Amino acid sequence: MRSLTVLGATGSIGASTLDLIRRNRDEWRVVALTAHSNAADLAGLAREFGVEIAVVADEAHLPALRDALAGSGIEAAGGPAALIEAAARGADVTVAAIVGCAGLAPTMAAIEQGGIIALANKEALVSAGEVMMAAVERYGATLLPIDSEHNAIFQCLTGNERAHVRWITLTASGGPFRDWSWERLSAATPAEAIRHPNWDMGAKISVDSATMFNKGLELIEAHYLFPVGLDRLRIIVHPQSVVHSMVEYRDGSTLAQLGPSDMRVPIASALAWPARMDTPCAPLDLAEIGELTFRKPDEVRFPATRLAREAAQAGGAIPAVLNAANEIAVAAFLGGQISFTRISAQVEDVLGSYAPPPPGSLSDVLDVDMEARARARVLVTST
Ligand code: NAD
Ligand code: MG
Repeated sequence: MRSLTVLGATGSIGASTLDLIRRNRDEWRVVALTAHSNAADLAGLAREFGVEIAVVADEAHLPALRDALAGSGIEAAGGPAALIEAAARGADVTVAAIVGCAGLAPTMAAIEQGGIIALANKEALVSAGEVMMAAVERYGATLLPIDSEHNAIFQCLTGNERAHVRWITLTASGGPFRDWSWERLSAATPAEAIRHPNWDMGAKISVDSATMFNKGLELIEAHYLFPVGLDRLRIIVHPQSVVHSMVEYRDGSTLAQLGPSDMRVPIASALAWPARMDTPCAPLDLAEIGELTFRKPDEVRFPATRLAREAAQAGGAIPAVLNAANEIAVAAFLGGQISFTRISAQVEDVLGSYAPPPPGSLSDVLDVDMEARARARVLVTST
């Protein structure tokens, strides 16, 4: 029996993870589940899985969580410190599935326990970069990516030497607006942006897919996870989302990982690693799919991947600035305060105005994140 903690249990990745655990109940003991504010859903899951502790990050919802867990013997806690404390209890596997840099401190606390960290929370790695990778090394943790592209790359790299890699190619669906003109993009609504053609995901990552910031963040994520050099990382648009990413070696062999557009596949790969487990996903029917197509990304309509590449090149604190500015811009877009095309424009403006020195610690990263958010908020209100 292995132990598991899910940070962000009530989200899309949390639900996919717990669906797999539900099908293998006797193999897992769930230590901690966390959520932002949805006390009712969190309590339901906590009772179902008989966890030790359930945590709401927003302390205002702690009384509701306590009520919902009354008589269960399950600990209820609230607030950012409780979130970190729950992550620091350690588990054989911690699924980091909080959205945004809000997941960074608890993910770092889990890393310090030295277990397996199954990472979905790309914003945490993008923000902390070298600081997180150094902690993984120092505490002997194992970082397994569950972002589908990085999970694909991880699988394609297994059994091979990094030194022989010629290219790592991240595939991108291109999002719901991939064929839209600039004029149409400027008038895109939040409802249109969160309607992704292939994947069913949380609101923030859905907007990121529409702007291509998701691929930009993933480029930075890949740069830290698979240090083969930024010039060996490429992006290709692949609308069917069947090939999840590829690695080409010096001899001309390209290895790719294919699968259905269902996050349970990469999550299962991390949960069972280095073994394999069943998923309820329908087998891949390539004859039914018929055609797989590929094209170059358009960085004029979608500047996000250019901005991300520049941020990765600059390194240090710059990816944290990019991430924070994007989080604020996405929230402002979802709140109807700025237009869709302002998201990347605003991120570029913040990057142009703020270039802090490389962070040496988690608290340095959090300071950069806070300052970049403040600057991005000023831009929202002045737009
Ligand atoms: P989601 O919005 O569905 O869920 C987010 C989870 O984090 C929820 O449990 C929520 O309660 C919690 N949360 C939100 N804000 C919080 C805060 N401030 N403090 C603490 N907890 C908070 O998001 P998702 O789609 O599941 O994505 C989660 C992460 O996984 C993101 O980083 C995303 O980029 C990444 N990811 C998601 C997918 C996908 O298919 N959904 C694929 C690849 C990577
Ligand atoms: Mg992805």
